[in-house]
Amino acid sequence: MALSLRPRAIVASLTAGSIGAGLLFSRLGRDVDADANAPKKVFSRGPAFVSLPLESVEQLNHDTKRLRFSLPNSTDVSGLSLTSAVLTLSWPQGQWTPVARPYTPVSRLDEPGVLDLMVKHYPDGKQSTHLHSLKPGDKLIFAAAIGGHQWVPNSVHHVTLIAGGAGITPIFQLAQGILSNPDDKTAVTIVYGVNTNEDCHLTKEFEKYEKEFRDRFKVVYTVSRPDAKTTLRKGRVTKELLEEVAPLPSNGETKVFVCGPPEMEANLVGSRKEQGILEQLGYRKDQIHTF
Ligand SMILES: Cc1cc2nc3c(=O)[nH]c(=O)nc-3n(C[C@H](O)[C@H](O)[C@H](O)COP(=O)(O)OP(=O)(O)OC[C@H]3O[C@@H](n4cnc5c(N)ncnc54)[C@H](O)[C@@H]3O)c2cc1C
Repeated sequence: MALSLRPRAIVASLTAGSIGAGLLFSRLGRDVDADANAPKKVFSRGPAFVSLPLESVEQLNHDTKRLRFSLPNSTDVSGLSLTSAVLTLSWPQGQWTPVARPYTPVSRLDEPGVLDLMVKHYPDGKQSTHLHSLKPGDKLIFAAAIGGHQWVPNSVHHVTLIAGGAGITPIFQLAQGILSNPDDKTAVTIVYGVNTNEDCHLTKEFEKYEKEFRDRFKVVYTVSRPDAKTTLRKGRVTKELLEEVAPLPSNGETKVFVCGPPEMEANLVGSRKEQGILEQLGYRKDQIHTF
């Protein structure tokens, strides 16, 4: 996801559709999964239009919070597929039209009872400011799920997942989905570029995966404005870094997923006129995915 080049049109049409059809179909949507023993999925096909209370807030650094929302029942699951986002709605004071923005949950998609979002605050940002103002007990409307790339387990031996800043959320969701599926043996390398050391998120989760999946999971952090004492790599995500830390396509069938600020995505993925770093490294266009 080029974080500021978001699919606004999709969001806008989903919003309109969700608001109109949501109230009408929300009950129908939920009954689709009414298998007596299966946990209820909050996000089935079509609009969800659920209002979920904020359970807790964790301040992760100066501009990012992890917001935990409670699902309607403690046994419910989100029911989202890899890789999905959820479309959130809010009504700023004095405004008739809602603000609609997608966020990618970082809790496990099969985790019962909760849905966690990791939200970066932009000082002039409408929805991120609203989300950062929420207190436990406040409610947020989730209009619908937005599907992303349909991941097929074991479709390749290895994936390289490249994140820049807040773009870590879909990258984490994909890594988490692969590693928590016992039938999926895909090896995962994450390359995570951030501005400062304190912008590295989900480090405990990555540490746990590195211990548990020594032979097939690795995360490489690179910091463009590092602390003096940093032990992490310094600089941006470059061709040389990728050559060094991630298996190249010549070593076997692989895929690469990229999610970060527009400038980073343009450097890596390129444009119609210009090859990006990934193509220079030998990736075919059909092996390169953005969110
Ligand atoms: C599929 C998808 C999943 C997403 N998942 C997440 C997620 O998990 N966590 C998360 O924090 N965000 C995520 N986003 C981004 C999120 O949807 C919003 O775009 C973001 O929170 C900014 O919205 P806003 O209403 O606060 O800002 P807006 O009101 O839209 O923007 C106002 C101003 O804020 C600044 N701004 C806004 N966005 C950016 C940006 N990306 N980079 C730099 N400056 C910016 C600009 O100055 C802009 O003019 C996702 C986007 C997509 C498309």
